[in-house]
Amino acid sequence: MAVYWHRRDLRGVDNRGLARAVTVDDGPVVPVFVFDPTVLEHASSIRVACLLEALEGLRAWYRERDADLLVARGESSDAIPRLAAEHEAETVVWCEGYSGLAADRDRATTAALEDDGVSCETVHDAIHHEPGSITPNEGDHYSVFSYFWKKWRDREKRDPVAPPTANDLATVSGEPLPSLTELGFEKPNAGSTTNSDQEPTLQLPTVTQDAARDRLESFCADDIYRYEDERDVPAADATSRLSVHLKWGTIGIREVYAATERARERAETDDQRANVTAFQRQLAWREFYAHVLAFNPETVTENFSGYENEIPWRNDPDELAAWKAGETGFPIVDAGMRQLLAEGWMHNRVRMLVAAFLTKDLLIDWREGYDWFRRTLVDHDTANDVGGWQWAASTGTDAQPYFRVFNPTTQGREYDPDAEYIREYVPELADASADEIHGWQDLEPADRERVAPAYPAPIVDHADRREEAIEAFERARETS
Ligand code: FAD
Repeated sequence: MAVYWHRRDLRGVDNRGLARAVTVDDGPVVPVFVFDPTVLEHASSIRVACLLEALEGLRAWYRERDADLLVARGESSDAIPRLAAEHEAETVVWCEGYSGLAADRDRATTAALEDDGVSCETVHDAIHHEPGSITPNEGDHYSVFSYFWKKWRDREKRDPVAPPTANDLATVSGEPLPSLTELGFEKPNAGSTTNSDQEPTLQLPTVTQDAARDRLESFCADDIYRYEDERDVPAADATSRLSVHLKWGTIGIREVYAATERARERAETDDQRANVTAFQRQLAWREFYAHVLAFNPETVTENFSGYENEIPWRNDPDELAAWKAGETGFPIVDAGMRQLLAEGWMHNRVRMLVAAFLTKDLLIDWREGYDWFRRTLVDHDTANDVGGWQWAASTGTDAQPYFRVFNPTTQGREYDPDAEYIREYVPELADASADEIHGWQDLEPADRERVAPAYPAPIVDHADRREEAIEAFERARETS
């Protein structure tokens, strides 16, 4: 008998760990999940709400097979050995995590199981190519994505794995899942921090295996063929929105990749095939950042690339609060921050812009932005989030050079020319023209008052702040 420990792989289909558990010992598998207080300490109500939904979905999937998902509460290093003993398991199997937190938890759990004479097996599942398998000639991992991508692209990919049958699973019956409140979280609500008079409602995605597969199927039927052309246009909504599913593991990466390969086979033109490749390239970014984090767990809090001197980050609670609330007076930035509050998700191009705005225009430490994203994103993934923030702050691998500062006005004009996306999320600007929106920084106060009286004036002058940021980064680089 084996125990299978679900963590961020909340699915039965295409789950390499679960498939391994079925074969590891004689007898059926007992699937379990643990609400670990050390992990929950780093969570937020929005993410725990997604977690509970994914767990309910997984439990239903097991029940359709006359089995169940057992849940326990407590430190993993206590709960997993307890569950193993209750079910007289010889082996506990789980899928690897790549953060420092996961590594600490797994070390403690492995030690406790081994003390009890129970074997442990771990399997790589969340990514195609595990850390250490794609390396430069010297070193553990690539720091430049383009080199990583070439090797990743050419490596053979694994096929999806078959799910267990009812006969592979133990006929157990579990307790109900705890509620959000029992876990110490409040019901998530949208815009709890905005100063806006609007009453925003939170629109969270459905986080289940079925929803993930529907999303993958519809994306690969159509949007994937315009991905490269439109992925930077937030109003086009042309990206897959699979991040929340990849975060919680409600879909397996092999299944995603196989669907993209089928889309390539169906493609009729080279342009369509190029769009499929462009999407696969983004999947490779996810693996690149997982490798970087696995070898550099300290980069959750420390700069990846050192500067000679400390970067003189500013401590400005009012500007930070305006950024969080989407009240900076820079329309594209505010639209993104409000999309985050309303949906727990933000378009990638806009994530880049809001992160650049915080770290360059406001010169506020990227860790403040990371912390806010960590609490508000449904798809928060330590590796991708740290990677994205350090890229924007010019402290990461392959980062944006510090002297290339995004101009939020020209970026807004380029990627949201008709201001469609901005108007959707910033209702105060609903009646303003695209020119007025993109020219907001240059409008006279009386014109702003006439066009959109409820919308704030820009909190900073971009040109001045750009100069100041470049000077601050140059000082941080000085050697003497
Ligand atoms: P698609 O464009 O459809 O891409 C498909 C998948 O590829 C994504 O689901 C994701 O798994 C992966 N991917 C795409 N772009 C990137 C990227 N730049 N880096 C790493 N993986 C990528 N992504 C997260 O999954 N979690 C995060 O916490 C996160 N934080 C970010 C913070 C900042 C500051 C920035 C700039 C980016 C961040 N990203 C994060 C990357 C990216 O914004 C999201 O993956 C993407 O917007 C998710 O939407 P999608 O699934 O529609 O993406």
